[in-house]
Amino acid sequence: MTGTPLLRVQELSAGYGPAQALFGVSFEVPARSAVAVLGPNGAGKSTLARALSGLIPVTGGTVGFDGQDLTGASATAIRRAGLVHLPEGRGIFPGLTVHENLRLALSVDKINQAEAFERAFGYFPALASRRKQTAGTLSGGEQQMLSLSRALMVNPKLVIADEMSLGLAPMLVDAVFDGLRAALDSGVAVIMIEQFAGKAIAFADQCLILRRGAVAWSGPADQAGGELLHRYLGAA
Ligand code: ATP
Repeated sequence: MTGTPLLRVQELSAGYGPAQALFGVSFEVPARSAVAVLGPNGAGKSTLARALSGLIPVTGGTVGFDGQDLTGASATAIRRAGLVHLPEGRGIFPGLTVHENLRLALSVDKINQAEAFERAFGYFPALASRRKQTAGTLSGGEQQMLSLSRALMVNPKLVIADEMSLGLAPMLVDAVFDGLRAALDSGVAVIMIEQFAGKAIAFADQCLILRRGAVAWSGPADQAGGELLHRYLGAA
């Protein structure tokens, strides 16, 4: 690996009040690459996403991103630095239209609105024809595309996608993965937290397996199959 990685996480600890959930997690994400974060329920995957995006405090270790020290930075500062988190559960406003949801995503970012909308609809053209539709009436897959568009329209350097495919029919999972693949191809780095280990491994360059809040295994995604998954996830 050459040069400084886009994201360098060293000995990261975090949790919920007195309940520590991450214990000294270290890993790197090179620019324009994808890392899959896998692990059984309760392993700390979502907690890692929340700590990296400033939603919960970091209690130990450091987070370096794009040449800046983001350890302890606010969620807004982290987002402005180009690290955008797509939370589990989509995070859209069901009573607002597609257009209003997208516009709201821009409220904290000082970027050109027209370009941002063009980018959003470029990744998911199907959304353009639904811009006046209330988000709550979209299908699950379309809601996930809206959520992903909201993240990608602000031109991030890194997107953390937490369980994007949760509850979606397989065909829609493919559509959501295609959108993320297009983002990766255009230079956005991705941290993918996924229940579908096989799909995430096929998508990613590197893989990080968490267990009980710590790194159980990390390495190239093409070495993260079969026996390894059985051992750590109980799945092939
Ligand atoms: P899942 O696949 O079930 O989402 P996960 O790997 O994302 O699991 P986390 O949700 O990060 O795991 O949970 C890690 C630990 O933190 C668990 O012990 C969990 O009970 C605890 N935890 C998660 N959210 C909270 C919270 N809001 N308050 C207190 N403890 C929490």
